Amino acid sequence: MKRPRIMQWSARQSASITVFAMLFGLGMISILGYQVNSSYRAQMAQARSRVDNLSQMLEAQLRSALREVDLVLRDLEDRVDVPALARSPLDDTRAKALQGLLLDKLTLVRQADNILLIAPDGRVVYQALDFGTAQPPFDAAQLARIRDDPYRERVYARLQGTDKHQQGIALARRLETRDGQFAGLVVANVTTAYFQQVLDTLDLGQHGIALLVDERSAAVAQRPGERPADDFSPDPQLLRQLNNGTLATGITVLENGAGVTRLVSYRQLAGSPFSVVVSTSSRDYLASWRNNNLYYLVGGSLLLAMALMMIYFFWRSHRLARNLQQKESRLNVSEVRFRQMIETIPVALLLARLPECFITYINQQGARTFDIPQAGALSLRAADFYLNSSDFREQLLAMDQTQGIRNIEVRMRRWSGEAFWASLSMSSVTVGEEITLMIGVSDITERKRLEGELKRRATTDSLSGLSNRAHFMELANQELARAQRYARPLALLMLDIDYFKRINDTHGHDVGDQAIRAVAQVLSATLRDVDVVARMGGEEFAALLPETTPELACAAAERVRVNIEAHRIALPNGSELAFTGSIGISALRRDDQLIDDLLKRADLALYHAKHHGRNQSALYDEIEPQQSA
Ligand code: GH3
Ligand code: MG
Ligand code: MG
Repeated sequence: MKRPRIMQWSARQSASITVFAMLFGLGMISILGYQVNSSYRAQMAQARSRVDNLSQMLEAQLRSALREVDLVLRDLEDRVDVPALARSPLDDTRAKALQGLLLDKLTLVRQADNILLIAPDGRVVYQALDFGTAQPPFDAAQLARIRDDPYRERVYARLQGTDKHQQGIALARRLETRDGQFAGLVVANVTTAYFQQVLDTLDLGQHGIALLVDERSAAVAQRPGERPADDFSPDPQLLRQLNNGTLATGITVLENGAGVTRLVSYRQLAGSPFSVVVSTSSRDYLASWRNNNLYYLVGGSLLLAMALMMIYFFWRSHRLARNLQQKESRLNVSEVRFRQMIETIPVALLLARLPECFITYINQQGARTFDIPQAGALSLRAADFYLNSSDFREQLLAMDQTQGIRNIEVRMRRWSGEAFWASLSMSSVTVGEEITLMIGVSDITERKRLEGELKRRATTDSLSGLSNRAHFMELANQELARAQRYARPLALLMLDIDYFKRINDTHGHDVGDQAIRAVAQVLSATLRDVDVVARMGGEEFAALLPETTPELACAAAERVRVNIEAHRIALPNGSELAFTGSIGISALRRDDQLIDDLLKRADLALYHAKHHGRNQSALYDEIEPQQSA
């Protein structure tokens, strides 16, 4: 049996394809996982080096800005007439010149907001730009520390004024007299606005933060200007460590907040108590990574779904194939069983393919019935199994009109040529283009024989072997009808043994029976085959003679009578017995309807023969005048 192509995956193939699909899925997942992980690492490394670079850049920029300011202050330090300053106040011209000098220097450093001269007692004595109430940036304690530390030539202080021009950093250099006495400070104010401006130039992303902080971790300037949304504050511990030198110039760390991580770079502003803090948010530096992950996730899910679908498809087709196999093997079993059944049923079965009607199959019983080897039948046609092949042609025609043929009796032929009666049924099956005849045959020879026997028993008299009365009446009426229809002559003889009672009484019943058989024999031998002879009961016989005129009937009756008279029965004692019979004859008349009319007239003629001495025959037509008289 041919299986559909798709079902031809073996169990092993399906299993290995399933495993392959699973491995493929797992492989895809791990490749994706690796990809996601490594791109995360790359992104992190990039973000880390970026924040590191930014903080370095910021530190360098601010350092050089402060250095520029410092250079200007150093120049001023050389050019300010310190002794004159000590003798203050200066006269107007000299004061004007000094202020001009301060202003000149101020224009050189745009980062500085003002340049001041401070007396040893802390008073602001001169300034480049007079904003009115100039807050001295250094308190007395600071001044005292500066005064007492001659090696500190450069100092910083926070400007904590309320005005924005007074917030920021004050950068100062020591002024000394020739003998090294503390003579005040030359100070440049670098305001928050400048730092703010520098911080703003950094490209830190939407959530980036940059700070400039002092040694107490307080912000000098920050970006964005307001407090950041996720409330980031720099780690004071790290700042302290940077300040006291436990940490090298800078460090970049990863700080975890709620749902957000930040890369934070801390860097000491070299030569100052200030530090820069630059931070970028994972919301910015992981944004593109997250986007990519979404694509990976979607793509990966699709691949995974495909792998699962593949697994499902092969699992299903494997299951279908297995079911089919099971069904097929069940079918094979039932086919074998069916074949065995057909092969061994006790009915002869022939299959013949139309239109040539060659035999394609014959079962065991068929071979027995037709007495032919099973293989031998295959070279024959269906008609060869019929005694008359015309019977087969008639049945084929009948098949065209009906669904099938049921139990019809037909004469068939064995391989040896012997004829037999069979009961035959026929049907046809169409498979594709092919039409096959199925012919079932039962040998009914025995049944036919029994039927014949029964019929014979029903119609025959067992003692004489002649027809009985009923059968005679049936046959005689048929003959009468035919003779009437064609206006043919017909005659009837009635015979009765003479003095039969006496035979019985003298010689016994057996001899009487012998006499009855003898008369039957004589009648059969003397009359023609077409004549119907019967024992009507007791020692009375009837014979119907078709196509026989009264004259011919009389002659036949005489021959019978003479032959009976001549017959001898051997008796047990060795002697012989002779006996006679009397015969009445009637001929068909046009108005006779039934055989009873003829029988009645023959009876009357017989009576006449008996009455006139027995051992003679009498024709009713001749004795009629006496009868009617
Ligand atoms: P008739 O010449 O007038 O015919 O005299 P008959 O003695 O023959 O008289 P009848 O015909 O009346 O006799 C009939 C006798 O036949 C009566 C019966 O005992 C005898 N019989 C009837 N049937 C059988 C039979 O089957 N076998 C024998 N042996 N005798 C039979
Ligand atoms: Mg009688
Ligand atoms: Mg008699």
